[in-house]
Amino acid sequence: MALQVVIEEKNNASFKRYKYFNWTPGDHTIHLLDFDLKPVVAYWLGGGYVRSTNPDNPQEILNKKIRLENPQNFRNIRGYRPAQRRYIFRVYDKTVAKICPECGLDTKVEIGQTYPSVCSFCKKGDLTRVSAAPINDVRIVNCTVALVEQLILVDKTTLDENGNQVGIENLDLQLFIVGRGTNRQTVVKPGNICPIPISFDLEPLNVDNSIFLVSDSEMNDLIRGISLRDILLARSSKGAIEEITESLNTEEDVVKKKIDELFS
Ligand SMILES: [Zn+2]
Repeated sequence: MALQVVIEEKNNASFKRYKYFNWTPGDHTIHLLDFDLKPVVAYWLGGGYVRSTNPDNPQEILNKKIRLENPQNFRNIRGYRPAQRRYIFRVYDKTVAKICPECGLDTKVEIGQTYPSVCSFCKKGDLTRVSAAPINDVRIVNCTVALVEQLILVDKTTLDENGNQVGIENLDLQLFIVGRGTNRQTVVKPGNICPIPISFDLEPLNVDNSIFLVSDSEMNDLIRGISLRDILLARSSKGAIEEITESLNTEEDVVKKKIDELFS
């Protein structure tokens, strides 16, 4: 009898990984590519976003304890991390940038400044040899409900000459970003009317590559101060490490928790 073995292989080769949108202070031009936006409940822990399938996960238990012990000022207590609603979606980024020849990440020019000569992400790529051009590629946005509310507003209020809704799918969007981290403010305005700039069908977006699903014991480790990077290293998942490294480099700035709290 012949041995029949089916070896299941993860077909990672066809899985397209996208880079993250780079929130540089300045003007950006994007076009939305995902229109069915659903929130993901996440926690900022260990230098990245994580989620849990357990409603009574260790962070929620800790939050509860902190709220009970500090009913007045629980928000200011170290360790208190409310769940945040994050939105993950893809945009077509038309912003002019220099693509690093070493790491492939994009450097956008900041208001009133010139391009740095060396890539700030990998500290290796020589950007003086690269010319600036529209990125014209897919980028992942990981944002708060506040930004999504602006998208809804632009969608509703941008009308054609007959007073009909243009539809956000037919619009470029201008993002005006000021400041970084907790001070970052983003204003979304309608840009040119134009069709969706890419014709290929996008695969469904895998949110797990932006917001990592962790077990209760991993979450306990994160709460104790172990970095998400180390947790993922322990899983020895090379792909995940690349993801988190990139996500830490270019995703929204570190502690914008305060803004999220206002809307969570
Ligand atoms: Zn680089």
